[in-house]
Amino acid sequence: MSRVLIHPATYETAREAVDRAFDLFPPDLRDKRVLIKPNVLRASKAEEGIVTHPAVLRAVVDKVEGMRPASLVVGDNPGLFNYGANEESFRQTGLMEAAGRYYVNIGNDARELPFDPDYMPRVSVSSAVLDADVIISLPRFKTHGLTVVTGAIKNSYGILPGAQKARLHRAAGSAGRFHDVVVKVFKLRVPDLFIMDAVVGMEGNGPASPDLRDVGRILASDNAVALDAVMATMMGCDPGKLRFLRRAREEGLGEYDLEKIEVIGELAVIPGYKLPPLGGEAILGNEEVQATIHGKTVLAPKADPELCTGCCTCVDQCPVSALSMTEEDIPRVDEEECIGCFCCQEICPEKAITLQ
Ligand code: SF4
Ligand code: SF4
Repeated sequence: MSRVLIHPATYETAREAVDRAFDLFPPDLRDKRVLIKPNVLRASKAEEGIVTHPAVLRAVVDKVEGMRPASLVVGDNPGLFNYGANEESFRQTGLMEAAGRYYVNIGNDARELPFDPDYMPRVSVSSAVLDADVIISLPRFKTHGLTVVTGAIKNSYGILPGAQKARLHRAAGSAGRFHDVVVKVFKLRVPDLFIMDAVVGMEGNGPASPDLRDVGRILASDNAVALDAVMATMMGCDPGKLRFLRRAREEGLGEYDLEKIEVIGELAVIPGYKLPPLGGEAILGNEEVQATIHGKTVLAPKADPELCTGCCTCVDQCPVSALSMTEEDIPRVDEEECIGCFCCQEICPEKAITLQ
């Protein structure tokens, strides 16, 4: 039977809850390569509640540090609006400071894995994810206009660098198929431990809604389906109605039936918690978001010959080797290979690359 911890917490007392999570779900980290993956959806202020709060990340980093891992990386691939701004997203949110010397731009190095030809035959996953012995995922307690809630399972969508996220959105084409995609991405590498920032929850039309709610909890589990089921229940949403949880159960990833989950702590429905409009299809009806998704699927980098010095940095750093130098000493992109991660734009010392 899966277990889920619900522990009272503020950002000042997050360490107590994190200690309790590690007591209940003790990971063996000694001499292991550990990745901590917060939810860094986009550049924003910590108090906007869009990303995992730095206090939670810092408490987990300190805990892991004391368990003598062989190595520790803190990283994520921001979403749609900040593909090319990994460092900036960490900096603005305060997560860069919380990660300290362990921050890595994990979008700079990726490897391809087979995916589902119905959507995309291959996807590129950050090498830091594939190389980790242990992954600790730090989702947030939020609503989502397409999946209704976004927690432990959806946090793994960030293992994909760059515009692949938008391409998969587009390839899915409907909310139903997108739920399937989310579960398939999660299955590429299931994290080992989940510690959810539910100190402040997001309600309404997440995942970047201005409507916040004091929840005053940190949740934890070693099973994402059970954890998301408990989160949904607290929000007043029947987990059995969530398509991604049904898909996850079909895939053998866990149980959302509360009778089959041991809850450690007090499970109570938060009165009047606002779920997204349109029963979780609000993003499909949002023209601005749809235009952004479509725009991001057709971007390709182009170097300005007036600015480019032919230094090759972008060619060397492209995580999927999509760039090569032409005889004119200017990089050219293979659009079939490019995953639109914006790394070349971010890394070019001459600011010569734009995505067009
Ligand atoms: S990193 Fe910039 S300057 Fe260097 S080759 Fe690429 S586009 Fe040109
Ligand atoms: S060409 Fe640029 S945007 Fe495309 S995958 Fe390589 S680094 Fe990323």
